[in-house]
Amino acid sequence: MKKRRKNAASIVDRYRVTDGKKFRLDDHDPGDTADLSVRGKAAKEKARAILADGIARLAELQDRLYAQDRWGLLLIFQAMDAAGKDSTIKHVMSGVNPQGVQVTSFKVPSSQELDHDFLWRGVLRLPERGCIGIFNRSYYEEVLVVRVHPQILQAQKLPPELLDAKVWERRYEDINAFERYLSRNGFPILKFFLNVSRKEQKKRFLERLDEPEKNWKFSIADVHERESWSAYQKAYQDAIAATSTPWAPWFVVPADHKWFTRLVVAAAIVAELETLNLRYPALSKTKRRELQEARRLLR
Ligand code: AMP
Ligand code: MG
Repeated sequence: MKKRRKNAASIVDRYRVTDGKKFRLDDHDPGDTADLSVRGKAAKEKARAILADGIARLAELQDRLYAQDRWGLLLIFQAMDAAGKDSTIKHVMSGVNPQGVQVTSFKVPSSQELDHDFLWRGVLRLPERGCIGIFNRSYYEEVLVVRVHPQILQAQKLPPELLDAKVWERRYEDINAFERYLSRNGFPILKFFLNVSRKEQKKRFLERLDEPEKNWKFSIADVHERESWSAYQKAYQDAIAATSTPWAPWFVVPADHKWFTRLVVAAAIVAELETLNLRYPALSKTKRRELQEARRLLR
């Protein structure tokens, strides 16, 4: 058990980016599975055991996070379509108490949302202390899809004077400042880029067409977005390079093997929570006396 946990922690270190200066998305293989084998029953058992440990440990840590009610955690998930954001969230969070978790899926902004600054709708969904907030997509779309499709930026109601070539640089800077502000207030942030290959995406789209229970996930728009693949890779490259910080690291998680994606994400969340020294609140003298009194009354 201990060995498996150490194993998991060292796997996480491979994918954490805290300094974007040298970051090259091309160096990251979507099919990577660290030193865990993809083949064989024993290998699968080992991977399953590491994931199960991670999920169990996450449940314990979340219970303390909630009871202590001091820290809050923000998890951000970004990826190309069919990289497995939804299913990763579903599996990794399967053991946690739903009362302490809020998940938000960010869609195309509404007209009300476009009447505000770009961080506004995210701010409304930030987690409370003691809780884990999950963003399925996030304000990072503002430097990803919006960058890939400049007409989206034009449709945002920014004053034209502010729409110069430096707009992305400023957004990165504002995101970094915002995340630093959150972390300084007791809300650390972990950001996951689920790194799927173009080939695997195609395979998953075809599955969505072929398997009736997956048909609902299919959208023709996703196939059109695929045509902008290299523009998206460039946008991710630039965004991750510009916004990987010690206070809000990116994890570039290989996403061609779903079992491995889940294992890395679970392990990364556990590793972060382990650093927070989460404890159940200590009882005050008065409170202890109250408990004694209550015990006496009940008897
Ligand atoms: P889904 O993949 O079904 O969750 O679709 C959500 C869609 O909303 C995706 O195509 C995103 O690119 C899009 N979206 C999310 N946030 C924004 C944003 N800030 N600006 C423009 N489109 C966005
Ligand atoms: Mg979609």
